[in-house]
Amino acid sequence: MKTTCLESVSTSPFLPLQAEPLAVLAARAACALDRSIQQLVQASDQNLGHLEVQAAHDVQELLRQAVERGAQAKADATPPTCLVCGHELTRCSSGHARTFESRYGAITIKRTRGYCKRCRKWRTPADAVLGLEESAGYSPAVQDMAALLASKMPVEEAGAVLEHLTGIKLPRATLDREAKRQGERAQALRTQLDQQAATEKRQLELSLEPYQMILQLDAWNIRERDGWGQSARQRRAGQEPERWHWVYTGTCFRLDQRGRTAGGRPIISERGFVATRCGLDALREQMHAEALRRGLGQAAGALVVGDGAVWLWRLADDRWPQARQRLDFYHAVQHLAAVGRALFAEDKVKLTAWLKPLVRQLKNESSVKVIGQLEEALAALPGGTRATAITKEVEYFREHQGRMDYRAGRRAGEPIGSGPVEATCRQYQCRFKRPGQFWSRTGDESLLCLETFWRNGRWSLLFPHSAFNPARN
Ligand SMILES: [Zn+2]
Repeated sequence: MKTTCLESVSTSPFLPLQAEPLAVLAARAACALDRSIQQLVQASDQNLGHLEVQAAHDVQELLRQAVERGAQAKADATPPTCLVCGHELTRCSSGHARTFESRYGAITIKRTRGYCKRCRKWRTPADAVLGLEESAGYSPAVQDMAALLASKMPVEEAGAVLEHLTGIKLPRATLDREAKRQGERAQALRTQLDQQAATEKRQLELSLEPYQMILQLDAWNIRERDGWGQSARQRRAGQEPERWHWVYTGTCFRLDQRGRTAGGRPIISERGFVATRCGLDALREQMHAEALRRGLGQAAGALVVGDGAVWLWRLADDRWPQARQRLDFYHAVQHLAAVGRALFAEDKVKLTAWLKPLVRQLKNESSVKVIGQLEEALAALPGGTRATAITKEVEYFREHQGRMDYRAGRRAGEPIGSGPVEATCRQYQCRFKRPGQFWSRTGDESLLCLETFWRNGRWSLLFPHSAFNPARN
């Protein structure tokens, strides 16, 4: 054994580990790393991956103790003041130990507790300062990982992935609870941010080119089940214990932030997202706030794009009465095709020959001409079920006529379809609408909220350390 190794310095069994200076622990970790390197060279069945796992293990205790000592030092330096109201705490007592699961293992911190007379509450200021206050015993880094993984994949998978990547073991129920708790925190923060967006006066950027704001809305459904453990009883009573709920989804972006890839595919450089299962009122307020944050207040105009759903246009009339509205082009085409099927039944050749020029006309000319032709076709029919079906479609086109300015839209470089929001819905569904998946009412909104924070690039508002890059500081 080489004498440069400091391991021998620290091996006194009478010294409690706690008291060892970090330098000693670091030296011991360095010795362990040296051994691991030799081990790698000698072992014919190990590749670099083995050393990567081993090296993380070798320094883990050093890191755990560093984190624990840092937490204790910061706790000791925290004045006994209520962080909610600023009032000095009374009846203070120190030494309240609590153990938290950190990125590098369990750490125990002794904190001071005191009573805030103004809030009439007991406070532990160190917990708030350290980011431990709202967690059930998890450090901010672990809270972050639990929230992110559980919003991206089913919890049973999330637990396995977390353990595989970090060695942190969180039982499924714990992970589920912690993610939900973080989701509830995210919802509270969302409400606060949305109120800010609605009241805040934004500085006008004077040099800005005028732009259009595009708002797209859609909905999909999620399966929920309440009364867990009572399904059998409910079924016997003739009730199916599941329900489908709408998740209203929206996306918004500035038209000047929509471009094309070299391959011609449209891309949007900056977009806002909204998803909620809390109903249309929630969607309306969340979407409006998101659009404001993305520049609706300074936009020269706004355009709402969606499919034919009645709720969507009502909401648009109500919340953005000045905005133009456009029916998704592909939905319009589907309705044209429905007329075609009523006219030509199974004759595919005739149907295509009839449909193609109409689609072109709808896209490049005017909806008035298209409606005229549908009316002509209807007039030539003697009546009956085919005529009834076509009448319904003609009414649909008349109702949405003002939303079919596809020619003008194309000329202005605007989207004529609701592809972006439909893609957004599909992405959410990959997580929230898996086979055999059921949600509780509170669980789905929590995780939808977390996922939306992530998509909007606001994760660091929930977990400030996640925006911290030591390499850049
Ligand atoms: Zn207080």
